[in-house]
Amino acid sequence: MEADRSTDFLIIGAGFSGLVAAERLSSAGWKCVVVDRRNHLGGNAYDGLDAAGVLIHHYGPHYFRSNSRRIVDYLSSFTAWHQVSYTIKSHTRGRYWSFPINLNTFEEYLGRPSNTAEFTTWLEQTRIPITEPGNSEEVIISQVGRELYELFFEGYTLKQWQRHPRELDASVCGRIPIRTDRDDRYLSESFQALPKQGYTAMFETMLNASPGVELHLGMEFSEARARWKHKHLIFTGAVDEFYGRRFGPLPYRSLRFEAESFSAEELLTREAIAGQPGFWQPALQVNYPGPEVPFTRIVEMKHATGQQIGASTIMREYPKNWTPDDEPFYPIPAPEARAAYERYATLAAAEPATSFIGRLATYRYYNMDQVTGMALAEADKLITLYGSNL
Ligand code: UDP
Repeated sequence: MEADRSTDFLIIGAGFSGLVAAERLSSAGWKCVVVDRRNHLGGNAYDGLDAAGVLIHHYGPHYFRSNSRRIVDYLSSFTAWHQVSYTIKSHTRGRYWSFPINLNTFEEYLGRPSNTAEFTTWLEQTRIPITEPGNSEEVIISQVGRELYELFFEGYTLKQWQRHPRELDASVCGRIPIRTDRDDRYLSESFQALPKQGYTAMFETMLNASPGVELHLGMEFSEARARWKHKHLIFTGAVDEFYGRRFGPLPYRSLRFEAESFSAEELLTREAIAGQPGFWQPALQVNYPGPEVPFTRIVEMKHATGQQIGASTIMREYPKNWTPDDEPFYPIPAPEARAAYERYATLAAAEPATSFIGRLATYRYYNMDQVTGMALAEADKLITLYGSNL
């Protein structure tokens, strides 16, 4: 196909990184074409109402959190926020546990009341001293010892990644806080909230504020590249795919979701378990670390969105080996996967007029705020390089 059209920036991927970069560049007067092979905005943060009218996250829970005022301020131009304290539980040995590990969990483990001093002493005696934890097993056993590690982390991690915690970077299980007080929030960042009308609505507002951005959904990268002449390409897809997997495919982990909706009436039978009417389970997310079920967690998003609706929807999450027909959800945070990525990173770094940003293009287990920060920084860099076009 002849490149019969032209744009300043051709941006591949309409997720967080692609849309933030497009908004910034368009605010500097540059024309941007954003394409995505999927038929919706927002990448894996895509959300919307399901058939029961419940607001769900189609690709698993996306809990926005950040310690960066700058990033929160930036996104606040496009959305109001619904403050949430993300609370979750773990379900194992036939019961619910307070999670992440905190003083309540310790009391549940002991079967009697305790206090921070006792828990701290117990941890000192139980933890396995390791000065510099080098993997995900060490990072947990060095804080809480083997028993709690086996109870909450080993099985979950084996299911989620199909590899032993020993074979994963310390940062994977190290993401999960461990506290000796009663703070049972899943996350520790200072800002924790969801876009009030959802991520998709936030991205739509972002696009409406960017008249210089043209969006094409359902279009492959190869087609877009052939169609639009461009001065610079921003690629947010999988970096190995960009290079035709010439060094072999990078490993990814994928997921399969199973949604189930319940009417207000059906939920009446769950009231004792959920602890309140209108819900199916007692928390936003319940983790299932044990091998007795094949899923890792069940998410009931209505707990977090605050949506006023009688029905509710739960999503069971089944980890899955990635094949080229699946969405790649996670890069594998492990030394040999990173080494394989480095070969592609070397090629990417040498591209004169292509930027690689986002979780897939940089092969990093990044959260949404980190991806936003990366896109803001790249847009600043490009505006310095090409100047403003206002
Ligand atoms: N994890 C675990 N048990 C849990 C929760 C998490 O072992 O109950 C480990 C697991 O390896 C997981 C990682 O910690 O992949 C990070 O968990 P998080 O909930 O942050 O994962 P994400 O939401 O990004 O899938």
